[in-house]
Amino acid sequence: MSEFDLINQFFKNTKVKRDDVLLGIGDDCAMLSPPSGKILAVSTDTLISGVHFPETTSPEDIAYKSLAVNLSDLAAMGAEPAWVSLAISLPDSNVEWLAAFMRGFNELAERFNVALIGGDTTQGALSITLNVTGFVDAKLALKRSSAKVGDSIFVTGNIGDASIGLDIILNNVKPPDLFMDDYKSYCIDRLNRPYPQVIAGQLLTAFSAAAIDISDGLNADLNHMCKASKVGAIINIENLPASEALLVFYNHKPDWQNILTAGDDYELCFTCAKDKVTEMQSLMGTHNIKTTCIGEIVSGAGVKCMFDNEVLNFQQTGYNHF
Ligand code: ADP
Ligand code: MG
Repeated sequence: MSEFDLINQFFKNTKVKRDDVLLGIGDDCAMLSPPSGKILAVSTDTLISGVHFPETTSPEDIAYKSLAVNLSDLAAMGAEPAWVSLAISLPDSNVEWLAAFMRGFNELAERFNVALIGGDTTQGALSITLNVTGFVDAKLALKRSSAKVGDSIFVTGNIGDASIGLDIILNNVKPPDLFMDDYKSYCIDRLNRPYPQVIAGQLLTAFSAAAIDISDGLNADLNHMCKASKVGAIINIENLPASEALLVFYNHKPDWQNILTAGDDYELCFTCAKDKVTEMQSLMGTHNIKTTCIGEIVSGAGVKCMFDNEVLNFQQTGYNHF
């Protein structure tokens, strides 16, 4: 199949159609009409086989994850997703592989009404680069630099599940006997199909929050937020939200150093002024979004992790490609 046949068959006629896409796939550029009064939030992420996903990952999951991690960046700004472009490099024109890839891609694109507006198709080692654009109010975006001393620190969902998935798939870690198959598929799903907290991000724009999505590990990502805001953070390990699967995996004694420095959670870590916490949590509750207070922003620098009133010192800080 030629490059152009591939484009026509797999990319051109996806289901999501939006009025703000004046011209989609097929010309030299897409033509897009952003809503007045909003600014554009734009983000790009590349996923490379063997680096960002194990080589054995299914094409559905590769596509799902590629879009999910990009949407997660929009979520961390509080932006509403709108458009995505897809630059894909493929070893060959494998039609079954591409059909499966686009099933995973379209599943998530349809859920969040994101239109595929263009891209590039080349031959080479498998690599996927997505560029996503969303809309946000200039004044309400959830910048990393907005954390204030005294704010409470929250995370959405649970953390650490994806790192268990990776340990099982890639590092052949054998879970304890009580670790059921359901837990296993849950953790692998959390690794391969992270749920981007797009709704949570948009709800948080009402609370002048600072936010970051947890991609490189909570410790490292919270550190980035602290640096940008010129503040420090204290987190209480006892309060970190853990799934039943995680507790069973670690025999109820989680290895928090491992969990806090492992990547791929794709939950949001965000701040909230103390006097807004009740209102924020009840709003999140009405959307069935779990939020957990894990600590507080303090003056100074860096993230201090407390366990049993003692400071834990971590050797690693998080995933770093170089
Ligand atoms: P050009 O050579 O002008 O850059 P291409 O031949 O690369 O154009 O692409 C033709 C059209 O198909 C363009 O509108 C481009 O955005 C779109 N396209 C190419 N590859 C992809 C892809 N992987 N996903 C979505 N759209 C794509
Ligand atoms: Mg091109």
